[in-house]
Amino acid sequence: MKALLQHMTSITRQRDHALLDAALIAALADLTAASQVRKREVLRIRDEIRLHVNSCEQSNDAPCREKSIALAPELAAALKRHQTSAQKILPDGNHILWLPVWLDGHFVACLELWNPALSDHTTLEMALAITAIYANHRSLLDYSQRDSLTDLLNRKTFDENFSKILRSLAQYDMPTGMQPEERRHHDANQNQWLAVIDIDFFKRVNDEFGHLYGDEVLLLLANLIRTSFRPHDGLFRFGGEEFVILLRAAALEDAQRIFQRFRSNVEQHHFPQVGQVTVSIGFTRIGANATPVVVLGHADLALYHAKTHGRNQVCYYETLVADGQLKSEVSNDMVEFF
Ligand code: GH3
Ligand code: MG
Ligand code: MG
Repeated sequence: MKALLQHMTSITRQRDHALLDAALIAALADLTAASQVRKREVLRIRDEIRLHVNSCEQSNDAPCREKSIALAPELAAALKRHQTSAQKILPDGNHILWLPVWLDGHFVACLELWNPALSDHTTLEMALAITAIYANHRSLLDYSQRDSLTDLLNRKTFDENFSKILRSLAQYDMPTGMQPEERRHHDANQNQWLAVIDIDFFKRVNDEFGHLYGDEVLLLLANLIRTSFRPHDGLFRFGGEEFVILLRAAALEDAQRIFQRFRSNVEQHHFPQVGQVTVSIGFTRIGANATPVVVLGHADLALYHAKTHGRNQVCYYETLVADGQLKSEVSNDMVEFF
């Protein structure tokens, strides 16, 4: 009982998702004596649900693997019935206990416990209670970090976590089980990009159709953002009709193609009543030691260029500077102007 209360205190004290995950995993490992505890985030790729290891794990053996939900039919069957646990005994005698995390009726993550000691019935009950407390606390954290209209991350979260978000994007893209040498090579081949997206002539949408239709456009645009980028890219509503994307892509051509594809998806989408809506996008590469002010400043200048040169287009800051179309550099010295 004392251990349970201590873990509850530790979980509900956290204000950061990574630390919250660590507290949850430590609690489950301690309370169930499992040989290994992993937390897998749910990735939805079209209709397929994949479970992805994205945070610290407590393990005494076996390397971690990415899993399609189809590989775990016992778990898939439990999810269909909205159950809070599923179990499986493997042919080699290992025992897996899954504890799905449900938020507002949606399956968002799954705890995977290897060989938990469940001889005592209360152990499973404690594990379920800890998972439910985690879900409640995560929901509260999400509430303060997300925008209530679109459910994208909000600007406060961006400002408070810029460096951490960049690091976590890097981890998401890192194939598991990489050797240090491969890891360095992988790092050198990856770049991060920041794009600012602004809806063109959005005032007209509000003026012609009213704010309710305006809000619906924002909501549908957020859905297009979710489907056009990968689930683990950093997706933010910065306020009003402005959105920010943190993207991980190897080459400029890839980033350009991805942002162009999104621009085109928006242009081709039919928004009920309103019809066609377009967006302008400015983006920049996030260099080493980048600060939010400099990076946002560069992307904003590129966006401004897109707005003043016809809208409905994607502009890349570094190319504009190289071509002499943009002269001003934003530096840390300009922080005060912002
Ligand atoms: P531009 O192409 O230059 O971007 O033109 P614009 O009309 O989109 O100009 P601007 O970006 O300055 O206008 C933003 C407008 O977005 C102003 C405001 O009426 C509207 N807006 C901001 N937040 C919201 C919101 O939450 N809901 C709705 N419906 N409208 C919003
Ligand atoms: Mg705007
Ligand atoms: Mg606008």
